[in-house]
Amino acid sequence: MHLKVVNQPGADLNPIVQELSDAQQLYFKAEVGISLASIERIDVPGMDEVEVGSCPAARKHELTTEQAKLFEHRNFVRPSEIVIYVVKGIVASRDGVLGCANHPAGRPGLIMRHTPTNRWTMAHELGHVLGLSHPDCIFEQCLPWHDNLMWPDDSKLSKPQPDLTATQKAIMYLSPYTNS
Ligand SMILES: [Zn+2]
Repeated sequence: MHLKVVNQPGADLNPIVQELSDAQQLYFKAEVGISLASIERIDVPGMDEVEVGSCPAARKHELTTEQAKLFEHRNFVRPSEIVIYVVKGIVASRDGVLGCANHPAGRPGLIMRHTPTNRWTMAHELGHVLGLSHPDCIFEQCLPWHDNLMWPDDSKLSKPQPDLTATQKAIMYLSPYTNS
C-alpha cells in the first residue's frame, strides 16, 4: 500500500500515519496484513479539492474527470498495489463525504480526507477497495451495524475499534489485493 499526500506540503504526516496504524491494527485482527510501501507528498495542480460526484458504490470504476486524473499519479506503484490519496478537500454530490474508493480498473486505490474526528475513514475506504459494501438494512435492523467498520458513519461507534463480521473477512480474503 502506498500513501500519497496531495497538495499539502506543510501538513503534519503524523495524524495520517496514526490513522493508517489504526487501520493496520484493525485489519491485523482480521488476519489481513497491510504493509506501507511508500509515503510521498505529491503536487497536482487543481487538486486541492477533488470532485467525486456521487461516488456510486455499485459502479466502482465510475470516476469523475478529476478522480481519473489524480489516479494517473501512481509513479512507481505496481498494478495490484493500493494507493491512498489523502487530499485537502472532497466535493461530492451529497454532504459529509470523507472518502471515495472508486478507482480505475487495475489501479486499486481510494481518495480520502483526513479529519481529526473521523478516525476510521481510511480503514472503511480500504474495506470498499477489498470488496466490502455498506450494510444492507433498514431502520432498527441497522442497529447492530452501528459498530461495524462498513457502517457509513463512524459517529455512532461505541467501541474502541469497529467490528468486521466473518462474512466480511471471507470477502476480503477473496480480494485479488489481499493476495498480492
Ligand atoms: Zn462507504
